[in-house]
Amino acid sequence: MPTYEYISTTPEDKGKSCYTCRKPFELRRTMDRAQELTCPLCGNPIKKLISQVAPPQRTTFSSTKAKSSGFTVLKNMGDGVLEKE
Ligand SMILES: [Zn+2]
Repeated sequence: MPTYEYISTTPEDKGKSCYTCRKPFELRRTMDRAQELTCPLCGNPIKKLISQVAPPQRTTFSSTKAKSSGFTVLKNMGDGVLEKE
């Protein structure tokens, strides 16, 4: 079950938020319940925070870059023959 981060839509309003939702808090919810935007404790409106976990960086490895980095780039010529580019 994924964990979502929420915070009250009015954290500065003590009448419309409680001790928990006044600051970011985490809730483990199923995907279909993730959009329920009320605090489970006080029932006041909350909003979902964008996850702060950064997606893994995809590194694209180009042969040009490899060559400039001093690697010898071998081209697969088929039949197991590798040729220097
Ligand atoms: Zn609350």
